[in-house]
Amino acid sequence: MKLNNLKDLFIHELKDLYNAEHQILKAMPKMIDAAAAVELKRALKDHLRETETQVERLDKVFKMLDEKATGEKCKAMEGIIRESDEMISQRADKNVMDAALISMAQRVEHYEIAGYGTVCTYAKQLGMHDVLDQLQMILSEEKKADETLTYIAEHNINMKAEHNAK
Ligand code: ZN
Ligand code: FE
Ligand code: FE
Ligand code: FE
Repeated sequence: MKLNNLKDLFIHELKDLYNAEHQILKAMPKMIDAAAAVELKRALKDHLRETETQVERLDKVFKMLDEKATGEKCKAMEGIIRESDEMISQRADKNVMDAALISMAQRVEHYEIAGYGTVCTYAKQLGMHDVLDQLQMILSEEKKADETLTYIAEHNINMKAEHNAK
């Protein structure tokens, strides 16, 4: 379909994000299983639950816009998740695997932060305030999830991975 204006591009990018969230929902249980540190498992589980509510928020957004949510495949998220799956299948010490999982999860969050940052800017430009509210809530959850992962890495996991013998 031809993209004629900013609204068309906005819908296109929302569909991409909607598909990305569904891929994340499917991928996260495997990351949670692979995590060893309780605080990492907890952070990933919390964000999985948050991701479920993000999909509901996006459903609401599509309803407000009177548009279908489906029709796009996010190939970038597909690639990030493939890298994550490859990492999980590596042989690694559990502390090193935890550090690697954080690295993978932060790639997911950064892609989302970029995507939601852009659609928030579009919603603002288009004067869609109710839609903007929903998207800003998602964006701040993604940022918070990213910060939590940085905190866990810097205060615990990376140190343990560094001092691993053998
Ligand atoms: Zn797309
Ligand atoms: Fe998300
Ligand atoms: Fe995408
Ligand atoms: Fe996220």
